[in-house]
Amino acid sequence: MLGGIHGKILHVDLTSGKMHVEEPPETIYQLLVGGRALVAYLLLRDLAPNTPALSPDNLLIFAPGILQGTNLPGAGRHGVGGKSPLTGALASSEAGGWWGHEFKRSGFDALVIRGRAAAPCYLHIQDGNATLRPAAHLWCLPTWPAQQRMQAELQDARVRIAQIGPGGENGVLYSAVMHDINRAAGRNGLGALMGSKNLKAVAVRGTQKVPVIERAPVNNVAKWLGANYKTLAAWATNPGRGTQDSLAWWANVGALPTNNFGTPLFADAALLSGERNYEMFHKERDTCQSCPITCKQVFENASDNPYQKLNPEYGGPEYEAMAALGSNCGITDNLAVAKANELCNANGLDAISTGASIAFAMECFENGIITERDTGQPFRWGDAGLLVQAVESIAARSGFGAVLAMGVQRMSKRFGPESTVFALTVKGQELPMHEPRLKHALGVGYAVAPVGADHMMNMHDTDFASAGEGLKRVNSAITGRTIGPLRTSDLGEDKLQVFHHELNWMHFQDCAVNCHFYPYTYAHLAEALSGVTGSHYGIADVLAVGARAQTLARLFNLREGFTADDDRLPRRVMRAFQSGPLQGVEISEESFNWARRRYYELLDWDGESGVPASSCLANLQLPELGLQL
Ligand code: SF4
Repeated sequence: MLGGIHGKILHVDLTSGKMHVEEPPETIYQLLVGGRALVAYLLLRDLAPNTPALSPDNLLIFAPGILQGTNLPGAGRHGVGGKSPLTGALASSEAGGWWGHEFKRSGFDALVIRGRAAAPCYLHIQDGNATLRPAAHLWCLPTWPAQQRMQAELQDARVRIAQIGPGGENGVLYSAVMHDINRAAGRNGLGALMGSKNLKAVAVRGTQKVPVIERAPVNNVAKWLGANYKTLAAWATNPGRGTQDSLAWWANVGALPTNNFGTPLFADAALLSGERNYEMFHKERDTCQSCPITCKQVFENASDNPYQKLNPEYGGPEYEAMAALGSNCGITDNLAVAKANELCNANGLDAISTGASIAFAMECFENGIITERDTGQPFRWGDAGLLVQAVESIAARSGFGAVLAMGVQRMSKRFGPESTVFALTVKGQELPMHEPRLKHALGVGYAVAPVGADHMMNMHDTDFASAGEGLKRVNSAITGRTIGPLRTSDLGEDKLQVFHHELNWMHFQDCAVNCHFYPYTYAHLAEALSGVTGSHYGIADVLAVGARAQTLARLFNLREGFTADDDRLPRRVMRAFQSGPLQGVEISEESFNWARRRYYELLDWDGESGVPASSCLANLQLPELGLQL
């Protein structure tokens, strides 16, 4: 018997109200592990080709991994997926908190929701039992009051809730599924998918143990983490400002996205710094299930003015939100940025795409492509009041907010060809807040990510620019030679070898589903997975799971009409700045095309078309999944 699973996937049809439990063969779990690979498999198996993303037939899938529920530090996460309303490609986003743990302990390994309820509803799952409950009284509520209402009516203060806010209810194409109020499965518009099903929330509670075949290897890994996290994750623990501290660092090297990635330096970055935010708003640190690192920030600001009050229930902004809603919109008012982030959490919006959409509209306005006749008011860089107002109007899809809610690619089509140069998307998804002109391989990663531009299923060149844990990890999987430090602008063979291994690793972690901030090596998670399942996984097996996830995602996207032509990076972030620390640094078309080709080849996909070879499918044992490939 395979450990780490209950062997049950719960299927819920909201149109008929019927539910059934599937008991898939163990091979499915063994090969896919969970998360993204399981999502892609279920979509390939159960979703008809070219189904519109907002059709009732689309699937909304919640998928923790085999490690979830075992109390391994870092494994308290889960994946959410479907076909993306934003991009039309695979949607796959992960969230932390406690929801995944509680769901796994409710007795299921995954949840698949199809159909559309006749009226708003929510799903309550407790220890193997699932019921649908009315949610008309919750519709339109922000996430915090909605959670309070559900916990009160279920008479369970510890029930964990995944939900949409008004953004998802109103079909904002980059709306999020929120967990524990402030943990977003933010990207790809999964909130709009959930809203299209008239599903407000999934409330979960469970007490069922997840079987672990051999506890000692899991304990070994947990013990190693306990002894090393303070030094190997010092960025989070000392001085304890989490991801926010990276803002000042990126600003210093000219890589803090500013004015829609159009300006080489943000002179006022100190006003948005983690240090300043910490002094002004820090209340406490927060964490996810079984995590001693506690990287999450909780902000508080008392005020009678609702636009200046920060509610700690909504947590606090990460680096991504500070940059997307701050510097990328030219905004220096850190309170306004923190408030805009809070409104994203309250309304269930992806903070990255929200900020990027506002920044795109600001740049179009500044260049006369749109005017006050379109926006209803001046729409200028740096307007902090406008930022907060814009987030509210996006969630409500009111006034110009209804246009912003379409996302950058659709707005650009509406505004006309002059706006194309400012439209920074890949496959229709807005760029995260990492600068490809500093991190060249990350730029290639943006282009090839199956979900559109993404910084998580990616590598960060700066982690491999000097000797350290990143290179040690990659070299542990390479025989016969050692790869040394590589320039961040390098796109040669060694960099692509690192890229190949790290993308396999990141995708594996999104199957496991493990936190990317953990300093685990490949061997650590191979050891933990072997102990939990009772089935041997070596380093190569772990990396093969990541390759399998990428290949299944590729097969899904190819089926839905995507080609290698969609694996492109916007020109703006390939061209050199004329000044600043990154002056003169460009990604040439030639080196980008070579790197993309090499990435395909290393996965045994066709170098030109990116179509997986039959040998790739065979080596990854995909025929054993029983799919029509
Ligand atoms: S490091 Fe941060 S994001 Fe990762 S599990 Fe811990 S608290 Fe959550």
